[in-house]
Amino acid sequence: MGFSVISGPHIETEWYNFDALNIPKDHPARDLWDTFWLKNKKGKEKMLLRTHTSPVQVRYMEKHNPPLRIIVPGRVFRHEASDASHDIQFYQVEGLMVDTDISVADFKGIIQQFLNSFFARKIKTRLRPSYFPFVEPGFEIDIQCFICGGKGCSTCGHTGWLELCPGGMVHPFVLKSAGLNPKNWQGFAFGMGFDRLVMMTYKINDIRLFYNGDLRFLNQF
Ligand SMILES: [Zn+2]
Repeated sequence: MGFSVISGPHIETEWYNFDALNIPKDHPARDLWDTFWLKNKKGKEKMLLRTHTSPVQVRYMEKHNPPLRIIVPGRVFRHEASDASHDIQFYQVEGLMVDTDISVADFKGIIQQFLNSFFARKIKTRLRPSYFPFVEPGFEIDIQCFICGGKGCSTCGHTGWLELCPGGMVHPFVLKSAGLNPKNWQGFAFGMGFDRLVMMTYKINDIRLFYNGDLRFLNQF
């Protein structure tokens, strides 16, 4: 599909992780990301462990002119209590496509094709309106529950759907942050939790198993 695989730094500046993505200081949306801040020298820019792979969107668009298509797999970090579905580190796969005439239909089509091909069968999806500062409009992408086939079970909270990943049309502010004119360019972006896809594929019920170094678990793969 023409996407290049790109990587970015684990240690980020406050600008790339938050401000450039339309999440200014004192904005309540910052609370969505519990952050590991690094100790920094007085007067120097605040540094942190990236909370998502989205900073790479801005880094890449600063250096490359559209049209562009990238995916960015990489580790991200959250300062939060861990449980079976949350850990302080996990993998995201960021996607970004920018061109002169990109629409939600492109976004939907590409996600659909990826999922069909990843799971090797036709996957039923839906887009649900949601809020994320760096996209407008923003969506949650849901996929029909594997376990119950959409009838409702304990895994899907009896809704028939599983939340897969957030995404949407790149916010004009983000394009401007990277030096692009939003009147000329538009695009979509998504940030897929890769661990969750692997958990669904191999029926693994605890995300922490990936990172605890237990060879009895790891040697199965
Ligand atoms: Zn279910």
